[in-house]
Amino acid sequence: MIPYGRQEINQEDIDSIIKVLKSDFLTQGPTVENFESKVINNTNSKYAIALNSATSALHLSCLALGLKKGDWLWTSPISFVASANCGIYCGAFVDFVDIDPKTYNLSIRSLEAKLELAKKNNSLPKIIIPVHLSGQSCEMKEIYELSKIYGFKIIEDASHAIGGFYYNKPIGCCEFSDVTVFSFHPVKLITTAEGGMSLTNDEDVANKIRLLRSHGITRNPKFMTSSTHGDWYYQQITLGYNYRMNDIQAALGISQLSRLKSFIKRRRFLSKRYDKNLDGLPLTIPWQHSQTESARHLYIIRLNLKAIKLSRKEIYNLLKKEEIGVNIHYIPIHTQPYYIKLGFKNGQYPEAEKYYKEAISLPLYPGLTEKNQNHIINTLKKILK
Ligand SMILES: *Cc1c(COP(=O)(O)O)cnc(C)c1O
Repeated sequence: MIPYGRQEINQEDIDSIIKVLKSDFLTQGPTVENFESKVINNTNSKYAIALNSATSALHLSCLALGLKKGDWLWTSPISFVASANCGIYCGAFVDFVDIDPKTYNLSIRSLEAKLELAKKNNSLPKIIIPVHLSGQSCEMKEIYELSKIYGFKIIEDASHAIGGFYYNKPIGCCEFSDVTVFSFHPVKLITTAEGGMSLTNDEDVANKIRLLRSHGITRNPKFMTSSTHGDWYYQQITLGYNYRMNDIQAALGISQLSRLKSFIKRRRFLSKRYDKNLDGLPLTIPWQHSQTESARHLYIIRLNLKAIKLSRKEIYNLLKKEEIGVNIHYIPIHTQPYYIKLGFKNGQYPEAEKYYKEAISLPLYPGLTEKNQNHIINTLKKILK
C-alpha cells in the first residue's frame, strides 16, 4: 500500500539518536534546548518551547494566554480534533468559524460576521485558532486586524506548516499571532516520533508555557514566592503537567530539521506534478493564495461529484483496491459524537460539510516515487473518465 504520508528516516537520524542514548541525558536536557534554538533560527520567533505533542502545545498555549472556564475559543471545523479540544481542556466553550470554499481555511467573511454577532451577544472569543490546512497559511493579516478590533488572542495551529511562508516570512515568526504551534508527528513535515512546539515573541507567555510543561515547578529564584533554601530548592507555583519532550526526540528533530528544505522542495515538486497531470479531470486541485508558499503537507483534491457517476466513497474504495492509501482530512469536528453531545448540529457549518463530502487527500511525502505517483494519477484518470 502506498501510504498517504510517511516519515523519512535516514542513517544520520539514527546516528543522532544513538549518540543521545550513549550520553548523560535521556529526558529533557541540552538537546531539547538545542532543538528549540534551531527552530528559532528557522522561524525568527523569539522563544520556542518543545513539548511532547502539538496537542500539549495547544493546551499550554491556551492556558498561557489565560483561557478559562466560561471563555470562548473559536477554530475551524476542518481540522484535527485537537484544535478544538484544547479549549475544552481549559473549561472554555468552543465554537467554529465556517471555512472558505477556496482555501478550506477559516473564512474571513464568516469570521467578521460571527464576531459582529458575538459582540452584540457579549460572547466574543478570547482565543481564535486559525489552522493552516495542508500547510497553506490562513489570511493572518486580516485575522490580526480583526483581533485589534475585537480583542482576541491568536494561536496559529501550524501543525501542517513548518517550512511554509506567508508574505515571504516563515510561518512561526508570530508576526500576526501570539503563539504558533508545530507538530512533529510522523506524518507531518518533520518528526520527533511524537512531539510539538509552541513559538512566541512574548517573554511572559514563553515563561508560562515553560512552567506548565513541567508540573508548574520552577528552579529560578526570580519566580519564587520566597527566598530559596539552597541549590536543591524548587517551588511549585502553579498546577502544571508533564508535557516535556525528551533529548532522544529532540536529537531526531534536529537531524530532521536540517533536511526540512529538501523535504519541502520534493513535496512542492510532487504537488506541481499532480497539478499538471490531474488537469482536466472533474476535480479541483489545491488553490494557492499568491502570498503564501505552502509547506504542502497534504494534497487535497475536491471531486466534482455532479460530473462523476461514482460517490466519493466508491472512488475512495477503488483507490484503496489499487493499493493507494488515500485519506480524508478532515471529518468536520462539530459532527463528532462528542461535539454533537455538546449541542452542535449537522448542517451548522455548510461549507465545511460540503467540503467534507468531496475531499480526498492523495499520497504525498518526500519518499513518494514518481513511478508510484504515476500509478496514482493513472488510476484516478481511469476511475474518473
Ligand atoms: C496533527 C495535528 C494536531 C495534533 O498534533 P499531535 O502532535 O499529534 O498532538 C493538531 N492540529 C492539527 C491541525 C494537526 O494536523
